[in-house]
Amino acid sequence: MKTPGQISAKINTHSPKPPRSIATAASAPRCGARTRSGTPCYAPAMANGRCRMHGGKSTGPRTLEGLERRRLATFKHGKRSVEARAAAQLRGEARRLLTKLQALLAEADEAERALHTPVPPCLPQKAPKQG
Ligand SMILES: [Zn+2]
Repeated sequence: MKTPGQISAKINTHSPKPPRSIATAASAPRCGARTRSGTPCYAPAMANGRCRMHGGKSTGPRTLEGLERRRLATFKHGKRSVEARAAAQLRGEARRLLTKLQALLAEADEAERALHTPVPPCLPQKAPKQG
């Protein structure tokens, strides 16, 4: 434990021979992509043979789980989903049918009114007002 007056001595961690883990890292395959200066990239390569900076674009999700995660990540509100569009289609059909039914009802009402207010042909027709 360090006390306030104590000075911590720095331990020289640089040994002449690197530890095994560094040697292993140094022997890792290199990227080799052409850099902007024209030299090959010396960064350690990943499984695809390139480094983290030269690995190229993502090729997208591979598993069903990844596809589902992507689908949920881009889902906004569902107002244009298959279900919502099907419901809108049904509403439109219902509105069109309702309009036709209302027109039919109005026609039937008109016909019924014509039946109940007969104009007897024997009565003299009122002459239009003149003057
Ligand atoms: Zn690279």
